[in-house]
Amino acid sequence: MLIDVHVHLLPPRRLAGLLKWIHRYYAPHPVPVDVTLDHLIGDYAKVGADSLFNFAYPIEPQETEELILFNADLRRRHPWIIPWGSLHLENPGKARIVERCIRDHDFLGFKFHPFVQRFDPLDPRMSEAYQALQDARRPCVFHTGFEEFYGLSLPVSTLEHVVHSFPRLPVVFAHSLFPEFAQAWRMLERYDTVWLEMTNVIGALWDERYRIRKFEDQRQVLLEGINAWSDRIMFGSDHPAGMGTLEEIYRTLDGLRLAETVKENLLGETARRFVERFKPGFISSLPPSTRP
Ligand SMILES: [Zn+2]
Repeated sequence: MLIDVHVHLLPPRRLAGLLKWIHRYYAPHPVPVDVTLDHLIGDYAKVGADSLFNFAYPIEPQETEELILFNADLRRRHPWIIPWGSLHLENPGKARIVERCIRDHDFLGFKFHPFVQRFDPLDPRMSEAYQALQDARRPCVFHTGFEEFYGLSLPVSTLEHVVHSFPRLPVVFAHSLFPEFAQAWRMLERYDTVWLEMTNVIGALWDERYRIRKFEDQRQVLLEGINAWSDRIMFGSDHPAGMGTLEEIYRTLDGLRLAETVKENLLGETARRFVERFKPGFISSLPPSTRP
């Protein structure tokens, strides 16, 4: 089972914006600035993916509707894609947005990026969205970690407050608080509503092109935790903004030579169980002909 749990398939304007932004940070980024949506979907056929989680979040409040409709249309055309909704702090009627995405458009949950979307997860205006997700028993992904890259800070205590205040809200820590992995393991230990994912984490520690040398001593902490907790850990690429081409990203993970069960959990088994928990029968009901 291969499920990429962190992908950004976006409408043309936002896709171009994302690629331009990445090329500004890292000029030799191997995905071209003018890559098309169809090309990216084709990349998943090449690696033989069963499914993917697609994230499209608004940077401005007026984008929310367009992105929801884009993701809903993508899901209709490619039923193996699992869309995630999002909304902006300034959008009114957050509970209704959540309900519509889940009930009418078949989205799995919601993804928030407090840095790019410029909001405090503890802003009281966000509670309505968390409450609606908790009521629907649907998960919420937060961007966590890579604080230096964004020049912003999101302390684990902030996220822990959300987890603690919404005890039945399933929460995924994207990027596993990079590089504060010991804190991430502590969250898994303390809360059974928390999951982690390793998007860009492996590349930032092992891929020569993207490696952040000063965090090298975190490699051992990371490997020990992955081995211990792989049934709560998923793996995503951040394609097309990840650390390499889609194939290269999976090759970097391969290079770690993880035990077979641990690797299977990261590549798709944990994600499969995660999806089954919230949408029973979804993965098994995908008609094989629609898979890439
Ligand atoms: Zn991302």
